[in-house]
Amino acid sequence: MSADLLIRHATLPDGRTDTDVLALNGRIAAVGSALAAPAGAPEVDAAGQLLSPPFVDAHFHMDATLSQGLPRVNRSGTLLEGIQLWGELKPLLTEEAIAERALQYCDWAVARGLLAIRSHVDVCDERLLAVRALLEVKRRVAPYLDLQLVAFPQDGVLRAPGALENLKRALDLGVEVVGGIPHFERTMADGAESVRLLCELAAERGLRVDMHCDESDDPLSRHVETLAFHTQRLALHGRVTGSHLTSMHSMDNYYVSKLIPLMAEAQLHTVANPLINITLQGRHDSYPKRRGMTRVPELMAAGINVGFGHDCVMDPWYALGSGDMLEVASMGLHVAQMTSVQGQRQCFDAVTVNNARILGLEGYGLDVGCRADFVLLQATSPEEALRLRAQRLLVVRGGTVLSRMAPAVAQLALPGRPARVDFTRHPMATR
Ligand SMILES: [Zn+2]
Repeated sequence: MSADLLIRHATLPDGRTDTDVLALNGRIAAVGSALAAPAGAPEVDAAGQLLSPPFVDAHFHMDATLSQGLPRVNRSGTLLEGIQLWGELKPLLTEEAIAERALQYCDWAVARGLLAIRSHVDVCDERLLAVRALLEVKRRVAPYLDLQLVAFPQDGVLRAPGALENLKRALDLGVEVVGGIPHFERTMADGAESVRLLCELAAERGLRVDMHCDESDDPLSRHVETLAFHTQRLALHGRVTGSHLTSMHSMDNYYVSKLIPLMAEAQLHTVANPLINITLQGRHDSYPKRRGMTRVPELMAAGINVGFGHDCVMDPWYALGSGDMLEVASMGLHVAQMTSVQGQRQCFDAVTVNNARILGLEGYGLDVGCRADFVLLQATSPEEALRLRAQRLLVVRGGTVLSRMAPAVAQLALPGRPARVDFTRHPMATR
């Protein structure tokens, strides 16, 4: 997909207004004001609305998505019952059904302006059904969506018999990132050992690493420390991601003051999954109930790249969701209390540029030379996009329009009031 397109009068996330963006042959050829239109290139008047690079999801489980209720629902709402439920569902899965659900989710994603997803895929299955299904989905969606796959040993690479061999087979088939779940191994020592061997495997094969790490309320869980240590030892700087890190919420403050600089030295990327962990964590608490999210502002302040992931949509762990990364960012900013203008901008970055860095996406952004991938939002700033979970008026990949959505507008019948309301601007702001 590569085409020409001229967007007129857009607002950009960095605050530039009345800006034109020209796409030629699928790449951004010019960004400026009153650009000359090449012959035959279609033009879109953005009318001051926000043009952003597309949303990116750095943490998802596409093999489980849209399976909610199969074979039953999660009664306790906990992570562990979710894992158990997924274990009950696995023998019933078919390659076709996994692919069909994943493709449906990718349709939703595109309509929401979400054009790149890193998905974990469970490798704890002799048949590697989910791996084969998602590799086929990856091939089919490649023209319109970047799907990056992580070999994820859901039942523990040491705990589940044959898991390491199956993980290696998945990598041989083309899965490109090494995953892990050290907190689900039988002991803290086994967890640490799993981190060591999986990081070594990634180093041998020149791959990236993304581990579910310390996804518990246990203040003594220490796996992200081990992950940072092996990242340094094996010189994997910038290629390793620690996902979830919810135990950090409950850790001793002194210990965290030592841990965060260690993570920064290792150039670890981190992913918080606000929608999921605010609902899964703290389930053993009475009151007060802990917030199940890692220390996002503190990690950001230390210069660590923090992304937000959707993690789950309608699966054994989470019954809600619709592929809306603005909903993810909105939950993140509420849970982390990042309500300042700067905090809101950081949360918008966490579902766009920060996640793009985690995936290592080439040509991401709105600079000249970048891929002409973007989303036009019915909002005039990133904060307004978050507040409104703005409509995705236009979703573009390589200069080609993939999706259009009608603006959210209500027709009012109130005496002495305007007939139309769209929630975007307070009347005072336009005076
Ligand atoms: Zn996950």
